[in-house]
Amino acid sequence: MRKSHLIKPVLGNDYPVISHGKGIYLYDKEGKQYIDGSSGAITANIGHGVQEIAEALWNQAKHVSFVYRSQFTSDAAEMLAEKLAEYAPDELKSVFFVNSGSEATETALKIAIQYFQEQGVFTKTKVLSRWTSYHGITLGALSMSGHQLRRQRFNSLLEDFPVAPAPYCYQCPLKDSYPGCGVRCADELENIVQAIGAEQIAAFIVEPVIGASGGAIVPPDEYYSKIRAICDKYDILMIADEVMTGMGRTGKMFAMEHWGVIPDIIALGKGMSAGYTPMAATIVSDKIMNTIESGSKVVMSGHTFSANPQSAAACLAVLHYIERNNLQENAALMGDYLQNHLQRLQWKYSLIGDVRGKGLLCGLELIKDPMTREPFELSNKITDRLLSICFEKGLLVYPAVGGVTGFSGDSILISPPLTVTKEQINDIIDILDQSIGELTNQLI
Ligand code: PLP
Repeated sequence: MRKSHLIKPVLGNDYPVISHGKGIYLYDKEGKQYIDGSSGAITANIGHGVQEIAEALWNQAKHVSFVYRSQFTSDAAEMLAEKLAEYAPDELKSVFFVNSGSEATETALKIAIQYFQEQGVFTKTKVLSRWTSYHGITLGALSMSGHQLRRQRFNSLLEDFPVAPAPYCYQCPLKDSYPGCGVRCADELENIVQAIGAEQIAAFIVEPVIGASGGAIVPPDEYYSKIRAICDKYDILMIADEVMTGMGRTGKMFAMEHWGVIPDIIALGKGMSAGYTPMAATIVSDKIMNTIESGSKVVMSGHTFSANPQSAAACLAVLHYIERNNLQENAALMGDYLQNHLQRLQWKYSLIGDVRGKGLLCGLELIKDPMTREPFELSNKITDRLLSICFEKGLLVYPAVGGVTGFSGDSILISPPLTVTKEQINDIIDILDQSIGELTNQLI
């Protein structure tokens, strides 16, 4: 007989039962405190237990919790769409609500294909992505994810989409080095488009900062403007998957703002609701919406729970909270502080090959040899071991592994809620210091 009927991520493992959360802390039923150094899966951006979000949920629930999007709209969903359109670049003003990041990227895929169909172009059905990327777990989203570990069981079911090299300078897939390379990884996109034929490619999808598959990989400064120019040249839509990076996480509302590049479609999730409710969105440009409006008039997607009023009310309250508390500014400041301290740890431990990130999306890459940057063999389970040492000591960090060809590489994300203070970062660094020290001793 099973002890629990709930299917857990790793069967047989024990998972503590959380009783409550407050700010950056979670508490289990035994009374143990955890610092949420990863905001769960880079989601709890405003921290745990914020009363006004619970009140927003309750206030909406008192009136109506659910309306079906094909029959009604609601004030909450209308106001949330308006708020997101306010944050988005001028060219992107239409919002489609879904329930998870995977649905947001998959909706982006479908809208991109539909955009060309509305113009009588039926060959543009492929979405280009990059190795070392993650855009979601549903089959469409996984088809455009360069995440080897998550793809391998389902490869035969996935679409045969082309994949470009990632702008991953620390372990350059082209074995080149920046700046001498001239950002060749961006030029590779053009080579792939020419080889396959632009008439087949609807869109190119990117995570502005690569998260779950690589550990906060930031491309060279010139990269995205080169990508934008190639997309324009070949009539390919650019999709920015801001599911992890959006809503202030990197110090700007949208991470793409760091490079001043405007995509055609933005996918949002995670931080948009900060985990208070399942909610995600796809924001679409006027160019695309005008084309659909003067054609079939129907965006061919949607879910029963799309634009749920209760979820919309919670998200709206989250966005007001982010604004009122200047959390994106805090993310920029605290991100610099955190990265400086991570760099101090890098001087201390040769295990840390690279420290990187933007704002409070920070990553560490762990390597066997700092000179050659050789990764550990997978069997060493370095990331898992570090995670469990940190967990024991009451610190949660996020594994970013399995995205690289051959599954190699060990990276973690350190991404506390955007409310984090310097004192709390000092505590995170103390535990990381002890944990990496302990792992280093195990490896001697
Ligand atoms: N896109 C990115 C960049 C992500 O990091 C994730 C999840 O980690 C997803 C999409 C999928 O989101 P979800 O797990 O909410 O389906």
